[in-house]
Amino acid sequence: MTVITDVQLLKYRRTKIIATLGPASSEPDVIRKLIEAGANVIRLNMSHGDHDGHARIHERVRAIAAELKQPIAVFADLCGPKIRTGKFRDGQITLTAGETVTVTTRDVLGEAGLIPSQYEALARDVKPGDRILINDGALELQVERVEGTEVRCKVIHGGILKNHKGINLPHVQVSAPSLTDKDRLDAEFALKLGVDYLALSFVRRASDLKELRALIKSRKSHAGIIAKIEKPEALDNASAILEAADAIMVARGDLGVELNAEQVPTAQNQLINMARSKNKPVIVATQMLESMIENVRPTRAEVTDVSHAVSAGADAVMLSAETAAGKHPVAAVEMMARIAKQAEAFQFWQRKRTKISAIKQKGPIPFGDAVADAAARLSYDLDARAVVVLTNSGMSAVTVSASRPWAPIAGVSANPATCRRMNLMWGIIPVLIPEVSEANAIQTGRRVVRELGLAKAGEYILLIRGFHGDPQLNTPSITLLAV
Ligand code: PEP
Repeated sequence: MTVITDVQLLKYRRTKIIATLGPASSEPDVIRKLIEAGANVIRLNMSHGDHDGHARIHERVRAIAAELKQPIAVFADLCGPKIRTGKFRDGQITLTAGETVTVTTRDVLGEAGLIPSQYEALARDVKPGDRILINDGALELQVERVEGTEVRCKVIHGGILKNHKGINLPHVQVSAPSLTDKDRLDAEFALKLGVDYLALSFVRRASDLKELRALIKSRKSHAGIIAKIEKPEALDNASAILEAADAIMVARGDLGVELNAEQVPTAQNQLINMARSKNKPVIVATQMLESMIENVRPTRAEVTDVSHAVSAGADAVMLSAETAAGKHPVAAVEMMARIAKQAEAFQFWQRKRTKISAIKQKGPIPFGDAVADAAARLSYDLDARAVVVLTNSGMSAVTVSASRPWAPIAGVSANPATCRRMNLMWGIIPVLIPEVSEANAIQTGRRVVRELGLAKAGEYILLIRGFHGDPQLNTPSITLLAV
C-alpha cells in the first residue's frame, strides 16, 4: 500500500469560504482579489468600525460582486452581550498572580488593582468561586466576594491588561439581554443595507433569536439568522437553537474560552453533524489560518485544522483577522481554497460515501429529507454529473445540500437574494435565471448544466423540484434525465 497525495481536484469547490473585511481588505482592489481567490461570503464585523465605514464597504462588495457576476452573500455579525473591561488611566495595568483586585461596574477609569467594566449586572451575576476570564482567557481571576458594585477577586493568571478587552464568565448565568441596544441599531442598519444574513453572538437558547427574527420580519427582509455557538448553554440547547436559526457558526474563539480548549474539537464535530441532520448550514470559525496574519505560509497544524473541518462536513470555513487585519488577506483565501479542494478531492477519491452522506437519523424522517437523501444516493449510484434544484426560497436547496450528493448542485432560482443566501451552502452553485417555471423545468435543467460545463450530451443529471412549506403543495420529485 502507498500513501496517496495526488488526487484529481474537483472542478467546483464544495466548502464555502467566508472572508471578514477590515482595514486590510476594505479597498476595492483587495475585495475583488478576495472574491477572485474564492471568497463566497463576506462578513462585516459590527464589533469594529462605524456605520459609515460598513456602508461604504457593503456598497463596494455589491458593486464588485455584480461586476464579477458572483452571487456573494454578505452578513453582519452583531456583537451580542459581549462583556468588556473599560479604560485605564495609563492605557493598561499589570495583574500579578496571587494579588487581590477589584472589578467595578462604576463608570471610572481603571488603575492598578481596579478594573472597570460597563456591564452593570456583573456584580449580581457572579458569586464567590466563579472565574472571570479576560482577553481570550489569557488573564484569569477568581471571585472572592461581592460588595455592591465591587467584585473582589484573586488573580490566578496575571499579565498586562489593556483597554476594552473581552471578559468571559464561564458557567455563569449572564443576565444581559441577548439583543443589546447596539445590536438593535446595528441590525436595523444592516437590514437597510440589504445584508443576506445577520449573525448573533453569545446565543444561549432558542428564544434569544425571537426578537431578531421579529425585527427582520417587520423590515420585510428575508435575511437569515446565523446563531453563533460560543457559550456552554448553547451546547446544552443546540437542538432547539438549530430549529430556530437558519445557520450556525461554531465560534471557536469564545467557545474555547468558555469551555476547556480540548473540548472544542469534539463539540465542533457534534455541531456539524447536528446541523446537517437539521438541514442548517454550519460555519467553522476562528484561528483557522491565524499565523497568516503575519506569515505568508500557515502552520501545518492550521492546514490540518481546515482540512478536518472540511472532511467533517462543514458548509463553510471562516477567516477573521487573517483577512480583516492580516498582512496576506488574499493569500489566506487562496490557501483555504486549496486546502478545501484537496480535502474534498481525497474524500471523493476514497468514495467513502457513508462518511459524507447518510448521517441523517434512521427511521421515519421528514418527506423532503427522504427525497434529498434519495437524490444523494442516486447521484452516487448513477454517477450523475449534476443535481439541479429549482428553488424559490432556498428551502429545497438547503435540504439537498445537507444530504451531500456526489455531484455538484446547481441551485436555480429567479430570486437574487435566494441565490446569495445559497452561496453559504455546501456544494451549491447558485444560478440566477429570469423565471423558474414547471413548464420548462427540464429544458432549464439541461441548459444550466451545459452552461456550467457540468455535463456533456448523453450524461445523466438529476432534477429536483416541488418542495413547498405547505403540506398540500409539497410535491417533491426527482427526475433523471440525459443532457
Ligand atoms: C468567535 O468567538 O470565534 C467569533 C467568531 O466571534 P467574534 O470574532 O465576533 O468575537
